[in-house]
Amino acid sequence: MSTYTAPLKDLQFAIHELAGLSEVSALPGHGEVNAELVDAVLAEAGKFAQEVLDPLNREGDRQGAKLADGKVTAPKGFREAYRAFIAAGWNGLGGEPEHGGQGLPHLIASPVQEIWKSANMALCLAPMLTAGVIEALKVHGSPAQRQAWLPKLTSGEWTGTMNLTEPQAGSDLSAVRTRAVPEGDHYRIKGTKIFITWGEHDLTENIVHLVLARTPDAPEGVKGISLFIVPKFLPKADGTPGERNDVRCVSIEHKMGIHASPTCVLAYGDGKGALGYLVGEENRGLEYMFTMMNHARLAVGVEGVAIAERAYQHALEYAKTRVQGREIGQRGGDRVTIIHHPDVRRMLMSMRAQTEAMRALACYAAATLDKAKRHPDAAEKRRNQGLLDLLTPVVKGWCTEQGVEVASTGIQVHGGMGFVEETGAAQYLRDARITTIYEGTTGIQANDLVGRKVGLEQGVTALAVIAAMREIDARLAAAGDLLASTRVNFREAVDHLEAATRWIVETFPKNPRAVAGVSVPYLKLFGTVAGGWMMARAALVAREKLAQPDADRDFLEAKLATARFYAEHELPRAATLAREITRGADSVLALDPAKF
Ligand SMILES: Cc1cc2nc3c(=O)[nH]c(=O)nc-3n(C[C@H](O)[C@H](O)[C@H](O)COP(=O)(O)OP(=O)(O)OC[C@H]3O[C@@H](n4cnc5c(N)ncnc54)[C@H](O)[C@@H]3O)c2cc1C
Repeated sequence: MSTYTAPLKDLQFAIHELAGLSEVSALPGHGEVNAELVDAVLAEAGKFAQEVLDPLNREGDRQGAKLADGKVTAPKGFREAYRAFIAAGWNGLGGEPEHGGQGLPHLIASPVQEIWKSANMALCLAPMLTAGVIEALKVHGSPAQRQAWLPKLTSGEWTGTMNLTEPQAGSDLSAVRTRAVPEGDHYRIKGTKIFITWGEHDLTENIVHLVLARTPDAPEGVKGISLFIVPKFLPKADGTPGERNDVRCVSIEHKMGIHASPTCVLAYGDGKGALGYLVGEENRGLEYMFTMMNHARLAVGVEGVAIAERAYQHALEYAKTRVQGREIGQRGGDRVTIIHHPDVRRMLMSMRAQTEAMRALACYAAATLDKAKRHPDAAEKRRNQGLLDLLTPVVKGWCTEQGVEVASTGIQVHGGMGFVEETGAAQYLRDARITTIYEGTTGIQANDLVGRKVGLEQGVTALAVIAAMREIDARLAAAGDLLASTRVNFREAVDHLEAATRWIVETFPKNPRAVAGVSVPYLKLFGTVAGGWMMARAALVAREKLAQPDADRDFLEAKLATARFYAEHELPRAATLAREITRGADSVLALDPAKF
């Protein structure tokens, strides 16, 4: 049975060398952040993940969460693991010090999340959603609300949830029908929310739901949605949980994966209505919820990286032990382990290269978030915010699509044993499959990318990123033969990205439907080339470091080999995707819906 080992050196490389830890350390309030601190946090997180979270992953999948008499029970050991998690202070890693958090930058919190999600994605969805609730209340809650809710959420004593979805309101939240009727200083909430992750459980004594609902006179559509804090138990004056609120879990879903994470149908207001507190102003709820959703979108992108890493480790171990066939081109001789077969090596390299590219991009986005929040120069802060807005749908959409692909390749490496549950490889694909759906499907991310993030701003940020990509060409050229194929493949891929971006900018005002028809290929193109950018930068760093006397040669040479593989096997996809975008929109729309 495979176990997970946190890829500490790879994480350190992505954080220090590719995302730019030194720039994040220079931000106001992050003066104490340095390489030693990062490495120590990663090492401790890795240890906790390996010792506490990972051993429950498989059994959690087998047992699943259970509902009986309105109570949801997490699989055996989850409650204790969660308690250990919060006791060790992990929940407050990125939280504000004034609420008991450690105030560490996203560039540390995000890679640590990768470790949690690799070890046990189902359990770690609870702290991820709690972090999103904290973020939304930090930005939009009143001082009294922040004081009342944030300390317990930051410590993890209480968990948080996100209540958007209703049966008729999935991707389109303008259809939300849950009602909120004012009553003194609070509201009474009535309605049904579905698919609520960790919406009910026995890990903590209280749960804080953030709920989208409509007040009686609210206008139709997205402009009439408000945001409410609805606790499972109403806190007493001393802050401890008091009376049970009128919200109940009526069922949990039987799902393809993340079995240990309860996905709940919550009924609000079967009695007199659940008591809820308005966040900010009425009718601005969706805008506030986006603070949480953007946070969660980056975090779900990291789930793609996490599952890919785990699937890679598992496949690699299998490939090193499974004996089958002989070396190609050799008559006789001993049977070999399957890692000797070139096609198995190709699969392992593709898993490894995609994972490293995704990780680097996710870390780069995390550093961008830190700069967007804290950069002392207003123009730099704005520039980073624009970049983050562009990268968020790419990290969410591309990393999760790749995560599914990598998990599927992991099954292929196992052959038939990948398809049966016994080896555990199948769980990764089942768990990964939700990541391209929740927090906005890939289609929704891609619409956001081509619409708000590229089309509406005439490609200004996207073209600036493309210009930054081109800046490394001279350094790649200076590396000569060593990086020659990386240079050529990367340059061609950037040309394709630029051509497709210009096509989007030109076509969007005239024909947004055509652009929407090829938005997912564009999202994939952007991710593929941005990943190639990270890998080419990784190759440049590795080359420089190899010249140092104390270089970690095996590690750096592996970085060069992986970057080259990415350039030669992943970047050529850019040509096909660009062609699909610039020449394929018409055929998407050729058949009328009635004629299908
Ligand atoms: C396990 C799980 C956990 C979840 N956790 C939560 C949670 O904690 N809180 C919460 O509020 N929700 C949660 N969700 C709900 C999740 O966010 C939604 O399922 C998701 O947003 C998609 O909505 P839908 O299922 O209604 O699909 P639909 O919106 O019906 O989409 C169906 C298909 O149509 C496409 N589509 C729809 N509209 C468009 C469009 N405008 N343009 C292009 N394509 C479009 C979609 O991409 C998709 O392929 C969870 C769901 C699951 C399965």
